[in-house]
Amino acid sequence: MSTIKDNLELVQQNISKAIQRSGRNADDVRLIAVSKTKPIPLLEEVYAEGIRDFGENKVQELCEKYEAMPKDIRWHMIGHLQTNKVKQVIDKAYMIHGVDSYHLAEEISKQAAKKNITAKILLEVNIADEESKFGIKAEELSEMFSKVIMLPNIEVHGLMCIAPNVDNSEKNRQYFVKLCKLHVDITKLICNNSVNINNMFCELSMGMTNDYEVAIEEGATFVRVGTGIFGERDYTKHI
Ligand SMILES: *Cc1c(COP(=O)(O)O)cnc(C)c1O
Repeated sequence: MSTIKDNLELVQQNISKAIQRSGRNADDVRLIAVSKTKPIPLLEEVYAEGIRDFGENKVQELCEKYEAMPKDIRWHMIGHLQTNKVKQVIDKAYMIHGVDSYHLAEEISKQAAKKNITAKILLEVNIADEESKFGIKAEELSEMFSKVIMLPNIEVHGLMCIAPNVDNSEKNRQYFVKLCKLHVDITKLICNNSVNINNMFCELSMGMTNDYEVAIEEGATFVRVGTGIFGERDYTKHI
């Protein structure tokens, strides 16, 4: 049986190769180890290999792991965030990836202000226009962006998407291309309107276990890999 260490090494090698193939720099892409449903000892194994970016999709689980793990970890909130839970996670999450409504952004802004911090967020795009998925429609993105950046105590660092679940990762290339293009369009909008967001709008969070290599070839700066590192998740067990 392969160990977590073996899995992680393989993922890191695949990431390096995809970076080389696409002529990008090694530090352009960061790996987020998606540890949802996995127990602390497994996270500690990954931490011991030098990983400092972890992804969780449930507020309570993120908060529990935050308390239990070393404080130099960057916790990425990658799941759908309910407005009434923002308060709990605001000072624990390093970045909130799934911001998909103005209402949610407003609450993040409000809670961040209360704690006197600045929240880093990514806007989630429903890139394949799937009814089952959260996310802003591509057509509505630039308007949403323009509104959200006016909120205090929020920094919009880029875009995020969850591509469809497909058997062949090549099928998702079109969606990664599309997210990258939306990113370029918004960057132009920023330049044309001289909006000063200090070049911080530079992240593309896209690619999971089944398609992170294609995502990197198309410009991902964060890949979110769970199964590829920790193995299959068992949702029947409690952590
Ligand atoms: C669970 C999850 C992942 C990781 O999925 P794997 O296929 O296990 O790599 C990535 N992103 C989000 C938003 C997730 O919820």
